[in-house]
This record gives sequence, structure tokens and C-alpha cells, in this order.
Amino acid sequence: MSDPQTATATRYRGRFAPSPTGPLHFGSLVAAVGSYLDARANDGEWLVRIEDVDVPRTMPGAADGILRTLEGFGFEWDGEVVFQSRRLDCYHAALVHLQLAGLAYPCSCSRSEIAASATRRSVDGGLLYPGSCRAGLRDGAAARAWRLRVPDREFVFQDRIQGESRQNLERDVGDFVLLRADGQYAYQTAVVVDDAAQGVNSVVRGIDLLDSTARQVWLLQCLGLPAPRYAHLPVAVNPAGEKLSKQMRAPAVGPAQGVGMLARVLRFLGQPVPEGMEKMPLADFWRWAIGAWRLSCVPAVRAILAER
Ligand code: GLU
Repeated sequence: MSDPQTATATRYRGRFAPSPTGPLHFGSLVAAVGSYLDARANDGEWLVRIEDVDVPRTMPGAADGILRTLEGFGFEWDGEVVFQSRRLDCYHAALVHLQLAGLAYPCSCSRSEIAASATRRSVDGGLLYPGSCRAGLRDGAAARAWRLRVPDREFVFQDRIQGESRQNLERDVGDFVLLRADGQYAYQTAVVVDDAAQGVNSVVRGIDLLDSTARQVWLLQCLGLPAPRYAHLPVAVNPAGEKLSKQMRAPAVGPAQGVGMLARVLRFLGQPVPEGMEKMPLADFWRWAIGAWRLSCVPAVRAILAER
């Protein structure tokens, strides 16, 4: 018999963490379905967290719209929905921890100063911060942002879908921002603090976040927190190869599209969907989909063309 305490401690806990910058679109529905089915198929919990830490990008009413859409599609989450905008104290505590440990340092560089001093590009396509303030602020310079020191070593991790992934943070990313010059906590800070605080041990999300994973693993190490397992799903692209994202005004998805839309997501994720599934009542569909879910069928590719 398994010890009930150990069984509780190791129970699968996944999550879906949308940014409320617009309505749910096909790409975010893929992340919701993938994370939900993987959690439920492993008899685990599934949490929903609204990542509204980036206030300027948050659209009023979008969080409500996303939650209603999830409900309409028949998703059932565990516990209360967590809003990052209500957890700023926790991010502050993490930053203080890193400051005291000498791992976070203040940076006075403006965008134009970085543009003038950077010599390389980061994996995100932006300029790689060259570490100008690493050894301390210039005399008279004021701190604008706080950055995390990154090591010059390769992070190697096994993604459950994409296989082995490697990244050298110093070479590919540079010391990254924890607290932005506009006073907002960065996505990396908030996501790591929340995943750990919520006991999330399995992250399933879009592959556009694969390049953030080494940053998050390093940040967790700096905070003395355990890292979850990661699985990165392919993203949906249009025929021009562009990611279907809110910024590109990808069309909203909604429960009126019914089980047919969920079946489309499953086919996108490489799951065999028998004929006639589209006509099933929602509850039956989910029961079937949880039983039929195979993470191993998800294609280990970065992008898949979305059906029109
Ligand atoms: N909030 C992020 C997004 O909507 C997802 C973060 C994550 O899953 O780690 O792209």
C-alpha cells in the first residue's frame, strides 16, 4: 500500500496560466486542453491562474471572458482562480531574497544605452544585455530595473514532448529582468513564484515558452525551490508561419463552436479522434478524451499549421 502522505505529496498538479490580453484563441485553447487532459489523465489537479501581472498589457474584462469561455467548454478547475495582480507581495519577497543573496542587482541602463552597448542578440530576438551594471551602478546612476545574474553554463533538461533541450543563459539570454523599470514584475519572476507556491509539478504549455524554461529553472534554483516537469506543445501557425496570437488578432474561440472545436484541438495535438466525436455531449466528450489522452502522440515539432 502506498503511504497516503507520499501519495498526496507526489500527486500530479498542472495548471493553465493565460495572460488576459484578449479573448481565448485557438493557440491558448490548445494549451488549456493539453494541460487539462494531461492532469486529468494522470488523476491530477488542474489549476487556473490569470497572469495579469503585466498591467499595461491587461485588457479589462478579458480575464472574466477567458474564465467564462473555459466554463462554457466544460473545463473544471480545482480550487480558486489565482490572480497575479493580487500577489505582488509574494514577488517582492522573492526579489528581496535574491537581493540579499547577491543574485539580483540593480540596473540603470535605458533601452538606448543597451542598444548602444549590446553586441549580441538573445534567443528572444532582442538585444542581449551585456551586463553593464553587473559590477555595480555607475556613480550617480539610479536603479531602474533589477536583474538576475545568470551563470555561464549549459542548462540541460528533458522536455516530456520535445526531448532534450539545452541553453546557456549567459550566452543565449544574459542577465534578465526581475523587476522592470516601469515597476512591474517580469513574467519570469511571477510565474516561478506562483508555480512553486501553488505546488505545480507539471507544466504543459506552448513551445514559445521553451526558451524561457532555463531562466525559470535557474530562478527556482536561486530561490531554493523545486522545478516542475515541463512539456511544450507545438504552436498553431498560419500559412505564413506566424504564431496565432492575440497580438495578431487571431479569432476568438467560444463554446458556441462546441465539441467540434475541442475535437479540432485534439487532432491538432496528434490524438486520434474517431468519427462522430463532434456530436457527443460535452461531458461524454471529456470523459472519452481523458481516457484516450496520450502525451506521446503529441508531435515533437515547434509549429503546426492550424486548420482553417
Ligand atoms: N501567461 C503566459 C501566456 O499566456 C503563459 C505562461 C506559462 O504557461 O508559463 O503566454
